[in-house]
Amino acid sequence: MQITKHTVATLEYTLTDESGEVLDTSKGRGPLAYVHGLGMLIPGLEEELEGKVQGDSLKARIEPDKGYGVRDDQMVQSVPREQLPAEVDVEVGMQFQAQTQDGGAHVVTVVEIEGETIKLDANHPLAGVTLHFDVEVVEVREATSEEIEHGHVHGPGGHEH
Ligand code: ZN
Repeated sequence: MQITKHTVATLEYTLTDESGEVLDTSKGRGPLAYVHGLGMLIPGLEEELEGKVQGDSLKARIEPDKGYGVRDDQMVQSVPREQLPAEVDVEVGMQFQAQTQDGGAHVVTVVEIEGETIKLDANHPLAGVTLHFDVEVVEVREATSEEIEHGHVHGPGGHEH
């Protein structure tokens, strides 16, 4: 069976940046299962996986515009210290979950601290990064209607409920 819209693909993968540094890997954690065609993976990777079958391996180089987006300097903002939780010892490099206007969650990173002013970067940590994926397709199957409805995979590599 080929990977196409509404199939569940299970992948072993390693993600590295241009310099070869490992950013993320399924090794030691177990393979990733996802429903294809729902935007669960970055667009460039779903494109590369389209049509692949169990046992296929691929290497993909994905530019930021098909990855986590290009960096937007307007997403770097300074906020007063009091807007952050008082109990947290704020340090450069620290990441927070922030609520977006549409109710989603967004990761912001502390990039600078100047007195009572904290500079936050709301760009995705991998925005502007060219991604190198090394992927092996472990399994491909049809998604159940329930999985498509829920927008996630049930069973191994996915949700248990
Ligand atoms: Zn579910």
